[in-house]
Amino acid sequence: MRLAPDRRTLLLGLGAAGIAPRALARTERFVVPPLAPLRLDMGRLTKITVCLRPFRAAGPRLDVERVGRKRVVHNYGHGGSGWSLAWGSAEIAAARALEGGVKNIAVIGCGAIGLTTALTLLRAGARVTIYASDRTPYTRSARATGTWSPDSRIADHDRIDAAFPALWDRMARTSYAAWQTLLGRPGEPVSWSDRYGLADPIADSPPIAFPRRPTDVPEIRFFGAALPGLSPRGHELAPGEHPFPVTRARLNTSMQFNVAELAHLLTTDFLLEGGKIETMTFNTPGELQRLKQPVIVNCTGYGARALWKDETVVPVRGQINWLAPQPEVHYGLYYRHVNVLPRPDGIVVQYGGESDMWGYGSEDEAPDLAEAQAAIRTVAPLFEAPKP
Ligand SMILES: Cc1cc2nc3c(=O)[nH]c(=O)nc-3n(C[C@H](O)[C@H](O)[C@H](O)COP(=O)(O)OP(=O)(O)OC[C@H]3O[C@@H](n4cnc5c(N)ncnc54)[C@H](O)[C@@H]3O)c2cc1C
Repeated sequence: MRLAPDRRTLLLGLGAAGIAPRALARTERFVVPPLAPLRLDMGRLTKITVCLRPFRAAGPRLDVERVGRKRVVHNYGHGGSGWSLAWGSAEIAAARALEGGVKNIAVIGCGAIGLTTALTLLRAGARVTIYASDRTPYTRSARATGTWSPDSRIADHDRIDAAFPALWDRMARTSYAAWQTLLGRPGEPVSWSDRYGLADPIADSPPIAFPRRPTDVPEIRFFGAALPGLSPRGHELAPGEHPFPVTRARLNTSMQFNVAELAHLLTTDFLLEGGKIETMTFNTPGELQRLKQPVIVNCTGYGARALWKDETVVPVRGQINWLAPQPEVHYGLYYRHVNVLPRPDGIVVQYGGESDMWGYGSEDEAPDLAEAQAAIRTVAPLFEAPKP
């Protein structure tokens, strides 16, 4: 069922013409917010970024091993959940690094996991130097979507051990609390936004074909679990409680990360609190011997596959198509597997695939313009004037 044209005109059409809607449409139980329209147009494409999620079937690697004279604590393989789980994973890795009383610690890697691990160690009283090939904005972490997604490609349900669900629950809850300490900061490193999940397609809008498909790999049952009592609960919207031309809509409120500002803030805090960062690349684990620190935390993300020759780290390709920022937009949406998220540095438009297998096994970090076009064309009809 389509919404009556007059409601769409009120809530979207006037905004599209640059006139802010003034009236709030009132239904029995809900005041329909006057949503600023998203301008989903290829002409507004500013860049395409591609990133590889470091997926491990067993979940992130957090064990400790000895390499020559060094004690190495691993902290890598967080799939599509690295930002969401970062502080919780850092807490576990930092505790393992500090076992034995050594206070002079090296962290390899300056992405979400390296920065949070280094800060956690520093705040526990250690002297910490980060060594990394790249730092923000050139890490893979800097190319993430920026949403609370603690169970995105985090593990294979059939390959985890019995302890994993509780470990994951702890990581998620620790991170969730830690990220909220950064709410309300300039640049909105962490914020909350409304998300509209839209279903049942617009009648006259056929599905758009996407060019890239997962290759012939066995389908994975990705690990996922509820986190009772943690996030705000969403609810279904009745027709008339939202302005979109679909028959089913659900409203959630979710945490979001302005990854650009967040990575900058964590880097700045680390340096201000006495940490050091050095640019350095390691080609083999043996090269770690040249560091002076006896304890090393390995936070190399997808880089661990090459450095540690760890083929349990599998890439899951993800592409973000960026449209010019719209500071007036404060909500995201999900429609036909395309996620749209407003960030201060641009509007994220991202095809997530029909399942989390999308991009599995692909190491291709080249932008795909056809994927960008398909993603934008999928969601654009939500904001087009209804045909007479
Ligand atoms: C498209 C996409 C969207 C995503 N969206 C989200 C999201 O919304 N929310 C979320 O929680 N997660 C998201 N993720 C997942 C998240 O981005 C990753 O889990 C996270 O980036 C992993 O961080 P990391 O610090 O382990 O790795 P990286 O960011 O890759 O950092 C690795 C660091 O190690 C260094 N390094 C690597 N190898 C070496 C070496 N040999 N020598 C020296 N230094 C080395 C690198 O230079 C870098 O500094 C997304 C991922 C993708 C691909």
